[in-house]
Amino acid sequence: MFFRILRYLSPKEWRMTALTFLLIAAQVGLELKMPEYMAAITALVQTPGGEMGEIWRSGGMMLLCAFGTMLCTMAAGYLSAKIAAGFSMRIRDAVFCSIQSFSFEELDRFSVPSLITRSTNDVTQIQSLLAMGLQMAVKSPMMAIWAIVKISAKQWQWTLSAGVCVAIMVGLDIVMFLLVEPKFRIMQQLTDNLNRVLREHLTGLRVVRAYNAEAYQAAKFEEANDDLTRTSLYTGRVMALMNPGMMLVMNAMELAIYWIGAYLIRAALPELRVGLFADMVVFSSYALQIVMSFDMLVMIFIFAPRAIVSARRILEVAETSPRIQDGPGETPGQRGTLEFRHVSFRYPGAGSDVLTDVSFSVKKGQTVAVIGSTGAGKTSLVNLIPRFYDATGGQVLVDGTDVRSYRLRELRRRIGFVPQKALLFSGTVRSNVASGDAGTEEEVREALRIAQAAEFVDALEKGPDASVSQGGANFSGGQRQRLSIARALYRRPELLIFDDSFSALDYRTDRLLRDELKRATAGTTCLIVAQRIGTILNADQIIVLDRGRIEAMGTHRELLESSKVYRQIAESQLSEEELRHV
Ligand code: ATP
Ligand code: MG
Repeated sequence: MFFRILRYLSPKEWRMTALTFLLIAAQVGLELKMPEYMAAITALVQTPGGEMGEIWRSGGMMLLCAFGTMLCTMAAGYLSAKIAAGFSMRIRDAVFCSIQSFSFEELDRFSVPSLITRSTNDVTQIQSLLAMGLQMAVKSPMMAIWAIVKISAKQWQWTLSAGVCVAIMVGLDIVMFLLVEPKFRIMQQLTDNLNRVLREHLTGLRVVRAYNAEAYQAAKFEEANDDLTRTSLYTGRVMALMNPGMMLVMNAMELAIYWIGAYLIRAALPELRVGLFADMVVFSSYALQIVMSFDMLVMIFIFAPRAIVSARRILEVAETSPRIQDGPGETPGQRGTLEFRHVSFRYPGAGSDVLTDVSFSVKKGQTVAVIGSTGAGKTSLVNLIPRFYDATGGQVLVDGTDVRSYRLRELRRRIGFVPQKALLFSGTVRSNVASGDAGTEEEVREALRIAQAAEFVDALEKGPDASVSQGGANFSGGQRQRLSIARALYRRPELLIFDDSFSALDYRTDRLLRDELKRATAGTTCLIVAQRIGTILNADQIIVLDRGRIEAMGTHRELLESSKVYRQIAESQLSEEELRHV
């Protein structure tokens, strides 16, 4: 899994990786050279009549080696940090692009908090493993093998003591691995959970305050937080034991080597003693290096599980191909028409259909209204037109062509969609209306005027350049609705869809807006979802939706006669007189 994610390394980063490996090899070589000079110096000091110049020379070489090691280490560290940073940037990009292409089905499946953790925290896990592991993974085996070769021919007693220490070390590491590895797996899920609780709390803050639910929310947060803290504390404590453990083993080994050395030297012939002493010094430094490199190696095994879990979570997102894909890109024969042919729809994983056998058609320039009680399936119906979801049965046709035959961009370009919940983005009024286009002053103003937003926008100090905060929090509900209507109008689409977009407007503004819409968008096909009869009285065709089925269809007057459901809705909203008048 972890190796599959390495695909995201660019060719340049692969070259840099190769260079890093070379630098590390050089570093290891130089580092292992040092004990030899140390041996030489030890021998010189012990030899009577040794030249001071000789000592200087060996010492100088040793210093050079140390300096070289430092340079190599720095360069390798710099390169691997650079590789890791570039790599994680590319993964974040890939995850973001993948999420962009997700249909609502995938978004529902992954959930937003998890997608956020995956594109931030999980990427960081991999980045840190790469920054650290890249060096360790190469350096430690190289160093261990090299050092073992160098000391293999020395006294067996020393080799035995070093071997025992390495075995203890690895044993310790394995125990630790077994203890923390399962916890790391859970940790990412707990992070998701914490994210979810926090997000829910922050988006629902008004409700929380209004209902004095702070304590309840705090308890929920504390639980999620405690879970995560307990797990990280546990792994932290286990890891904290590791360092002193390692020091103990290394010191014990040092002691053992010198102890054994003392006996060996005493037993040796006087003329061999100096050589033996030098051997001992060299051996102990190599042995230390071996133990350290084993430790590093195991460290990687300890950190890897977390990164592997993260890699899997990232790849899951990056490699999910959305259910809703571009069609072959047919060019439609008509303009401005909409048709539903025996459409039925069921949400993924739901037990029953929310729409059953819905058929109707709209001609160019007509206005069609959909009315029905809450939960009747109105939003579900309009969601099928821009392919937020795909119909599970039947066909939806825009301009006489099945929506699944369009390229998504092409399809959505034809549609001005005003969602039920008006959504604004942080930026300015202009950037919201033009949704990222440059947008000439004229076009923006015209859209604002039709949407009855000109009045309050002009009253703002900076007019269309007034800033909008995240989610449009600095505008009222009705203002937000009008701005999101302006956004749809600005694009001059062939088909305008309003999903209950007039609900937050007062009656007068509702009227003005509809009149203006009618005048300005003559020839544009409109689909209006509404709860208020007043909003749709004049529609060419009204569809009464009841529990996902079309109960009746016709004009206001026809429906008053033919549909009981419609008459009930009308009677509950209009006075006797109004009912007779229209
Ligand atoms: P309202 O007038 O309140 O906006 P509506 O007519 O727009 O209601 P829909 O939003 O289409 O109603 O919902 C119809 C049914 O589909 C509801 O019973 C709801 O539980 C279900 N539903 C809506 N969205 C989803 C979803 N994402 N996943 C599963 N079921 C859903
Ligand atoms: Mg709805």
